[in-house]
Amino acid sequence: MGDDFFNNKDLKTDYLTGLYTRDVIVDYAKHLIEKGTEFSLALVDIDNFKNVNDNYGHTVGDHVISFLANRLKDSFGNRGAVGRFGGDEFMVVIPNITEYDAVWSLLREVHKTIDGVTPPDYKTLYLTCTFGLSRCPTDANNYDALFELTDKALYRGKIKGRNCFIIYLESKHKNIQLHSADDTTISSMQMHTQVFKFLNSAPHLADGIKDLLLFLGSNLMIDHIGIQTKDGLYFSQIHTLSNTEEFESITNTFFMDNVSPSMGVYYLNDVTHLENIGQKELHEVCLKQGIKSSLYAIIRYNDKIFGYIRADSTSTARIWQYKDMDLLITAANAIAMSLHYQNKTFKEL
Ligand code: GH3
Ligand code: MG
Repeated sequence: MGDDFFNNKDLKTDYLTGLYTRDVIVDYAKHLIEKGTEFSLALVDIDNFKNVNDNYGHTVGDHVISFLANRLKDSFGNRGAVGRFGGDEFMVVIPNITEYDAVWSLLREVHKTIDGVTPPDYKTLYLTCTFGLSRCPTDANNYDALFELTDKALYRGKIKGRNCFIIYLESKHKNIQLHSADDTTISSMQMHTQVFKFLNSAPHLADGIKDLLLFLGSNLMIDHIGIQTKDGLYFSQIHTLSNTEEFESITNTFFMDNVSPSMGVYYLNDVTHLENIGQKELHEVCLKQGIKSSLYAIIRYNDKIFGYIRADSTSTARIWQYKDMDLLITAANAIAMSLHYQNKTFKEL
C-alpha cells in the first residue's frame, strides 16, 4: 500500500484467513483520517453463509471464508487493504480512490471476480457477496459516522436481493434504518398475520388477492409479482423500481413442473442457468421480459392446483431468501384455501 502505517510494524493477522484483524484495519482507517488522506471504506459480507454451515458443516464454512478472503485480497491487490471484520464479513480500506466513477469501476471489477465462484474442492457451492461502501471525507469525516454509512449501504444491498455492490449516496440512502435480528423476527410475524387479513377483509376475493400481492411486492421489493396459471397471468403487480414495464404470461411449464412437492416452491437465482440445463427457449422468454431470477410458489388445496404465485426480479440475479419463500408459501396456501371455500378458479374471479 506504500503507507507508513504498514512500515516496521508487527501487524496482527487473523488465524483463519491470514487477513489483517479487525483492530488493524480499523486503525488503518483512523490513521488515514488523522493524516487527512481521502479513502473509501467498504464492507463485504458473504451471502446466505449460514446455509453453507448448515448444509456442509463448519469445516467447509471455514474453507469458504478463507477462500473468499484470499480471492478478495488478490482482487483488490495493492489498491486496498483487506481485513476480517468478523464472521463472514470483511472490511476494505481503499486509500486515494473516492471519485464515484473510479470507486464504481473498482467495485465492479472486484465483484465480478467473486460473483458465483466455486472453491476448488466444493464444486456444488455457488458463492456470492454483497458490498457496501462510503467515502471519506465525501460522506463523513470521522470513523464512526463513516462506518454507519457503509453499513447502511451494505444493508441496502442485502435487502435489494444480495450479490451486488452499493455505494452510499446521501440522496438515495439517507433514510435507511438498520434493523436488529429481533426486529426482523417481529416484522416477519406481522407480515404473516397481514397475509390473512388481506384475504379476509376485502369484500371480493379478487380485491383481497390484488392487495395482498401489492403488499408482498412492495415489502419484499419484488419487481414483478402475479398469479401464473397454465391459461394466463393474473393480478400482475409491477414495482416502481422494475426495469420492465410489462410482464407476459409464461406458457412454458418448466418452472411450474419443477416446484418441489415438499416445499411447494421452485426458485432460480440466476436464469442464465436455464441455458446450461437445455431450457434455451424459456431462457429467451425470460430475457425478453428482462427477468434475471424467478420464484414460483404453488397455490394448491388438497390435490387441486389453482396456479402459482410468480415472482420475478429484473434488477439483479436475486438470491431468494427463506424469508421470501416462507411468506410466498403462506400467501399461496391462504389464497388456495380462499378459492376452495368460494369454489372458484382465478378465471372466475
Ligand atoms: P446474509 O446474506 O444476510 O449475510 O446471510 P448470512 O446467512 O450470511 O447471515 P450472517 O452474515 O448473519 O451469518 C453469518 C454466519 O457466519 C453466522 C455464523 O454462524 C457464521 N460464522 C461466523 N464466524 C464463522 C467462522 O469462523 N466459521 C464458520 N464456519 N462460520 C462462521
Ligand atoms: Mg452473511
